[in-house]
Amino acid sequence: PEISQPDAVEFAVVWKQPTGAVASLPNLKALQSFGAGVDSILSDLTLPASLPLARIVDPHLTASMLEYLDTVLNYYRLRFDEFGTNQQQQLWKPRSPRKIRHLTVLGLGELGSAAARHFAGLGYAVSGWSGRLHQIDGVQCFAGDHQFAEAVAEADLLICLLPLTGATENLLNEARLAQLKTGAILVNVARGAIVDDEALLCALQTGKLAAACLDVFRIEPLPVEHPFWTTSGILLTPHISAVTNADTAVAQIAENYRRVQAGLPLLNQVDRTRGY
Ligand code: NAP
Repeated sequence: PEISQPDAVEFAVVWKQPTGAVASLPNLKALQSFGAGVDSILSDLTLPASLPLARIVDPHLTASMLEYLDTVLNYYRLRFDEFGTNQQQQLWKPRSPRKIRHLTVLGLGELGSAAARHFAGLGYAVSGWSGRLHQIDGVQCFAGDHQFAEAVAEADLLICLLPLTGATENLLNEARLAQLKTGAILVNVARGAIVDDEALLCALQTGKLAAACLDVFRIEPLPVEHPFWTTSGILLTPHISAVTNADTAVAQIAENYRRVQAGLPLLNQVDRTRGY
């Protein structure tokens, strides 16, 4: 709203922009997301349909996500969740590590494929699931709704790295969570609205899921009255698994500005019809 000369703007770097703000810039040639995800940008229905949109793809962002996932995996494998609860009751109860052998990664894009490769390299059995079929060494790949059940059937730990689109909203609902092994652990580092909150609470209460680690939520910050804060078995982090680092992202943003000036295609351009 503070832009004094909307006509002069040709390139905009955006993140959770107010509805209508982009449409009010008549000479805009391209949009650049300040993050890897673009769901909040595309949720503005006034966005011109033909406007090119780029997102951040950054090895530092990927490294940060892998560090987070490694930490979460070992937290559960070494039973830090159980020992934390035991400490509150001054209980000394040594136990051997949890058997986490098989991981399934939902989404095999920049982050998901890196995670699948990383854990396969560490010796875990890894399955991956995406829209189109991928081929990744050491990873059993599945694609499409008809292969979802097969992709998740063996998972001790399910990692969600899907983008939030019309097709993935509430994808992890009661029916799909029922296809997991009893005692599986869910890690959602993608977007909160991909998981049906009620179905997740129910799966934890019934023991279908042993635990859930959530970095992302339907509403952020998570409202104080939300049951996720107090549900046993949920570990929360405040959307910190892979935050855009301005120092490393700025070069590709500047390069995309130059590309727009030169009439060249953008780096890391989003497919507007797919929504990711
Ligand atoms: P990406 O490169 O766009 O990859 C998306 C993957 O999801 C692709 O493999 C795609 O399949 C698959 N996919 C999309 N729709 C699908 C559907 N309906 N069914 C099955 N598979 C589907 O995305 P990315 O860079 O890996 O990032 C993934 C998401 O992580 C982002 O969109 C963002 O929301 C989230 N993220 C979170 C954080 C955080 O701090 N928590 C940080 C960065 C990103 P195809 O391969 O067939 O296209």
